[in-house]
Amino acid sequence: MVRRCRACDTVQWPPRPTCGTCHQTAFASHPVDPVGTVHTFSVVHRAFHPWFADRLPYGVAVVDVSGGSA
Ligand SMILES: [Zn+2]
Repeated sequence: MVRRCRACDTVQWPPRPTCGTCHQTAFASHPVDPVGTVHTFSVVHRAFHPWFADRLPYGVAVVDVSGGSA
């Protein structure tokens, strides 16, 4: 799932407080195809913020999926 702006239908990923296109703040969940192309990824072992400290390690990836990039 990714976020889609309710005002202009722009897909938002990563999530931001306002739409990057029209600056509105109302979003809806938008399903994307679970199959895509992984361009790069990294496994994070060090928390850059205390919220992540007990969630290590976690993965971060750049993936093209249908309906937009996430
Ligand atoms: Zn928008």
